[in-house]
Amino acid sequence: MHTSPADAATRATASVPQLVVHDDAIRANTAAFAARTHGRLMAVLKADGFGHGAIARSVIDAGASSIGVTTIDEALAVRAAGAAVPVLSWLNPIDADFAGAVLADVDIAVSGVELLSAVSRAAVGTGRRARVHLHADVGMARDGAPPETWAALCTAAFELQQHGSIRVVGVMGHMSCADRPADPQNDRERLLFDNAVRTARRRGLAGFVTHLAATAATITGVGGTHDVHRIGAGLFGIDPSGTSTDLEPTLSLTAPVIATREIAAGTGIGYGLDHVADRRTNLALLPLGYGDGLPRSASERAEVQVRGRRRPLVGRFSMDMVVVDTGDERLGLGETVTLFGRGHDGEPTVTDWAGWADTIEHEIVTRIGTRVARVHRSTTSIDDQEACDAHR
Ligand SMILES: *Cc1c(COP(=O)(O)O)cnc(C)c1O
Repeated sequence: MHTSPADAATRATASVPQLVVHDDAIRANTAAFAARTHGRLMAVLKADGFGHGAIARSVIDAGASSIGVTTIDEALAVRAAGAAVPVLSWLNPIDADFAGAVLADVDIAVSGVELLSAVSRAAVGTGRRARVHLHADVGMARDGAPPETWAALCTAAFELQQHGSIRVVGVMGHMSCADRPADPQNDRERLLFDNAVRTARRRGLAGFVTHLAATAATITGVGGTHDVHRIGAGLFGIDPSGTSTDLEPTLSLTAPVIATREIAAGTGIGYGLDHVADRRTNLALLPLGYGDGLPRSASERAEVQVRGRRRPLVGRFSMDMVVVDTGDERLGLGETVTLFGRGHDGEPTVTDWAGWADTIEHEIVTRIGTRVARVHRSTTSIDDQEACDAHR
């Protein structure tokens, strides 16, 4: 058989659990949002790119015109990966490394006068201007400046801008109910944001971009028309509004069988013996568990796919392992089992897992642990490998 270096690399890592990151799907989703937003796309890559690892290059290639993250550390990592587009960090403690951010040309969002002053002081120390986005709370009482403090924040920002330590380059808000497009709260928040923008202009600020909508608001249109759309979940095939049909799942999680056994009817499985086999059956052991991000609440509900068939996971999930009931089939050691994939061949998806665990897809994808190897792929190679395994 013809063996390329890529084949060898595949085989070397196929004996451990793998999180395959389908870069081609991320690019396709990104390109779709770039088209939908006419190129005004800030790719949100917080939480290690929603658990997908280093993908800044891919999303920029596919049409993202800026990157958004939570912390300055995340922003610096994106810069270090060679991103030459604007990078925004929107959640930082008062003593964060604002000087480092300014020197790396990282934009900082601020939601209060104290934080703004800290950013300004840090900028003075560097001899450069800080690029600042003012963050208005439009409804969820989480981050962002409360409405009663907004005008004062704008005034303080205008004065510091006149002083030369900062430049206000953006005004942002974030919606609370955009996944329910019919909710009247969306209208309230859109109006509050428009008001906040008007206030900023009246206080002398100009030449900034405005951004309100994330994935759901962009898909459903409830965010109105603004300069930039901050898209996270959608790049990873997740639509919080449940209305989009054209997003591609971006992850596959597989694990090798590390032990098998046949058990008699009446045998209990796992901690507490919660699951008792009602017939003679075969079990296969997989070396990953809730310590790797499989939600324990999906115990006794979740399924996997092996040899083209869905099979149930049985018993309580352990920290480091789960057990598959393979019925009449006895699997081979090292055989690959798919926990979730793109759903093209009947395998479970991240959406299925979110349902089994009573949570949202975001939580499934961001919790896959560091013990699981990330493998970045563009189409077909995983399918080729699976076809190859099946015929072995
Ligand atoms: C996470 C986040 C986003 C991205 O939201 P998605 O629904 O994942 O697109 C946008 N803005 C802020 C402030 C966020 O925290």
